[in-house]
Amino acid sequence: MSEKIKCLIIGSGPAGYTAAIYASRAGLHPVMYQGGQPGGQLTTTTEVDNFPGYPNGIDGPAMMVDLENQAKRFGTDVRYGMATKVDFTSSPKKVWIDETTEIEADAVIIATGASAKWLGLEGETKFNGLGVSACAVCDGFFYRNQTVAVVGAGDTAAEEASYLANLCTKVHLIVRRGEMRASLIMQERVKNNPKIEIHWNSETEEILGDANGVTGIRIVNNVTKATEEIALTGFFVAIGHQPNTAIFKGQLEMDAQEYLLTEKGSARTNIDGVFACGDVQDTIYRQAITAAGSGCMAALDAERWLAANNLH
Ligand code: NDP
Repeated sequence: MSEKIKCLIIGSGPAGYTAAIYASRAGLHPVMYQGGQPGGQLTTTTEVDNFPGYPNGIDGPAMMVDLENQAKRFGTDVRYGMATKVDFTSSPKKVWIDETTEIEADAVIIATGASAKWLGLEGETKFNGLGVSACAVCDGFFYRNQTVAVVGAGDTAAEEASYLANLCTKVHLIVRRGEMRASLIMQERVKNNPKIEIHWNSETEEILGDANGVTGIRIVNNVTKATEEIALTGFFVAIGHQPNTAIFKGQLEMDAQEYLLTEKGSARTNIDGVFACGDVQDTIYRQAITAAGSGCMAALDAERWLAANNLH
């Protein structure tokens, strides 16, 4: 089955829906394929308190339903389905959905996001939203004046530990080796913060908790094999993100971590007519609001590109 459209949006987080709202209002009749996790990463969050316009906060899944309804109100054709293969070598671009449906699109907006990496502990799923989080900026506020832990040793972990130290009574930083990967300046900030205790050569064995959520963790020193239980209420995993870019390998330019590269100040990729927005191209901010902003940029760039090429 094959279908020819003007504008295809792949992915349904804040970036994808914002692109959809702008693209439909501009008359591009966008078709959106939602991907494997309709609504994206926010559907795994409880309360979103930092998105402007919701003075009392909103549940992540409810916010994504709002965004979906807003995109549909202006005519976005929102469909279930996962992009499984692309061919951007010719125009129109070709994208296969679930390996069966072939879409030919003049412009493609990629908003496939990134996924937080997890340790693989049972407690991570059991207590997700009940003390376990992969985003300190999103959830740290709920743990003010409490004790928390951060796992990881890169810039993200260092940044999250410092951020949480401003809110929390104490932050345990669990580092699996005897050194950190983070930039020196970030390491110094963490090491000099009296509220942060670094546990070197340490790995989390188990997240402890009850019906109300996380109550502690058990860590093991991988050199001495000594174990220790730490009482805490928040457990932040900051061991990196994986951008969802596997199907674009060999076609779009990426950085060493496989994030898509866009031209500075735009959503343009190295292929004419292919645009990227949201976490799939953002290694720094990774916020719903910045994703939404870049979704708007992608739709405006797509509209202008279509017009300049007499396709709109
Ligand atoms: P990184 O890949 O840089 O670091 C991941 C960290 O998690 C590593 O220290 C790694 O340990 C640790 N880790 C991985 N798997 C496990 C595991 N199973 N158990 C315990 N620890 C684990 O990811 P980041 O998200 O920190 O950074 C990604 C990129 O974004 C980097 O280039 C970074 O510089 C950049 N960044 C820049 C910022 C800034 O400039 N302000 C802020 C945030 C990120 P190990 O070291 O042992 O491999």
